Amino acid sequence: MATLILSGSVGANGKNDPADVAKVRDRLLELGYTRVDHCKTGRESDFILIIKLIQSMIQGSGKIDKGDGKLSLHGETHKWLAAQNAPAWVKVFGESGLGWQSTGDYAESNGGYATSWLLDRLKWTGMMYRAAALIGVSNAPPLWVRECSPKLAGKNPSGHKSHETGIDVDIRLPLLPPHTNDWFQLKGHNYTKLFHFEAAKVQCQMIKTHMQSKYIFFNDPRFTDDLRLTSFEPNHSEHYHVRIKPPARIDGVYR
Ligand SMILES: [Zn+2]
Repeated sequence: MATLILSGSVGANGKNDPADVAKVRDRLLELGYTRVDHCKTGRESDFILIIKLIQSMIQGSGKIDKGDGKLSLHGETHKWLAAQNAPAWVKVFGESGLGWQSTGDYAESNGGYATSWLLDRLKWTGMMYRAAALIGVSNAPPLWVRECSPKLAGKNPSGHKSHETGIDVDIRLPLLPPHTNDWFQLKGHNYTKLFHFEAAKVQCQMIKTHMQSKYIFFNDPRFTDDLRLTSFEPNHSEHYHVRIKPPARIDGVYR
């Protein structure tokens, strides 16, 4: 059972009892937030940034723009860090599973990481897509998973506007034979020539059903208007951008 018992608040304007700070730091390190490894006082900017990161992702924001950087005793942030399904920071770069594959053709430090929430749902969605495609789609490529969030979380140097908090992922479109194993960007987007419409339809259906997605940005009008699977957003004609919702919390021991 995940456990995080504290005596007071930590972080920005917190009481910051050294024993509490150490417990929170160790829990954050256990979850993969390596930025806090040097933190001892609870007032370090890296420590406060990671508290804000947690506060932003648990509110479903793709940017570090929520929260006050303070973990209040028995408050939401505290409960989430003690939770059985606390958001860990995990590597997606180079990984693959049934029905999905990281393309690995970008800088790992820039987009190779995400929350465990996202990775778990990719795994589940990939499996469900694989099963559905076996029955209904020929020459179905995997979900081509590209950039998520930076290794250290926070600002994404490649210029993505969100992607800071590990709940966003870009997925390249499936292509028709002979390009089943390619994921190149369709130039001057043409939805009829190389685009594997049937595979994309099942992919988006599975993402919508199994990924607890908040939205899928993808601009093919058949997907936005007829199928109502995706929403229009500028610059999303050549990939899907998926943002997930936080899960329901499964409480651990926090008091
Ligand atoms: Zn994106």
